[in-house]
Amino acid sequence: MTTIPLVDLGAQQAEIAEEVRAGLDEVFATTAFVGGPAVGRFEAAYAAFSQVTYCVGVANGTDALELALRAAGVRPGGEVIVPANTFIATAEAASRIGAVPVPVDVDPVHLLIDPAAVRAAVGPRTEAIVPVHLFGQVAPVEEIGKIAADAGVPMIEDAAQSQGALRHGRAAGSFGLAAGTSFYPGKNLGAAGDAGAVTTSDAEVARTVRVIAAHGSARKYEHETIGMNSRLDTVQAVVLEAKLRRLAVWNDARRAAAARYAELLSGIDGVGIPVSAAGNEDVWHLYVVQVDERDRVLRELNEAGIGAGIHYPTPVHLTGAYADLALRAGAFPVAETAAGRILSLPMFPHLTAAQQERVVDVLAGAV
Ligand SMILES: *Cc1c(COP(=O)(O)O)cnc(C)c1O
Repeated sequence: MTTIPLVDLGAQQAEIAEEVRAGLDEVFATTAFVGGPAVGRFEAAYAAFSQVTYCVGVANGTDALELALRAAGVRPGGEVIVPANTFIATAEAASRIGAVPVPVDVDPVHLLIDPAAVRAAVGPRTEAIVPVHLFGQVAPVEEIGKIAADAGVPMIEDAAQSQGALRHGRAAGSFGLAAGTSFYPGKNLGAAGDAGAVTTSDAEVARTVRVIAAHGSARKYEHETIGMNSRLDTVQAVVLEAKLRRLAVWNDARRAAAARYAELLSGIDGVGIPVSAAGNEDVWHLYVVQVDERDRVLRELNEAGIGAGIHYPTPVHLTGAYADLALRAGAFPVAETAAGRILSLPMFPHLTAAQQERVVDVLAGAV
């Protein structure tokens, strides 16, 4: 049986292997393990790619979001509005500050944070709004940005799944005061381990993130605030530099694969296919369809060697971690219904047409 994984990073690795080896040789030869030149080079390159002025490399995406929220002035006890349908880290970042994540429902077509729900959730304690550019889409940033501006609070973007995504030509992560992104290996731009970054065009936010991430100090042993240790590893920066050079091509390959799935699935009843919002050039971090009897369909795919998955099986408010929010099933019906129907098909830049045909054959048989 030929297996088709959800994500296959092997071909990416092969493309960059030589460049990475040369870069690592240099890191080891100079023993510049923390904050070596590769970190600064990658930060500059990623800022340019993201259409912002500053990029601060950090240890992972969750830290990036926490740091962005802290730099934006979110305090313990403040409320941070997040979509109910996201990876838990979006909410966790707020909780780590001692702030309270306030989940809201998503729209039924794109499963992105719903502006009307955000407007209804804004209150006197709201200190930030965090749209998530889920699955490689761009969230409705104009409307969310307007709501945030009306409320006098910052919009902080969760850009962990959207490296390279554009809305009317502008990069995901460049719309709010700041964005947090993740270079977890499976992301569109993935390191060889954990890594992340805060991007912003605000000099003060960039400075504050750097200070907090470096033990609260701008100069060695002068600690102006209680910070943390969150650095982008030099070894990861070498890998990320090499991958960033190829990211636009890889994102185009994902777009082509998404178009091919849409064509192959168009004649098949019982499979809801994802569509991009008008104005978006999405980067298809995940290809998420919707089906009835999802668990059975998923099992049949997995049994046929196809690494389909679910992103995410439990909305934030129904996780054990957030039982304290006391939000019951039924609180966010769109997110909850979607959680039972969504199915992520294999998606990565080097996915072949033959692999996609096989995925669709098995899926068609299962629905
Ligand atoms: C991956 C991810 C994160 C967290 O990133 P880590 O690097 O794993 O800490 C946050 N938000 C979303 C939407 C993600 O997909």
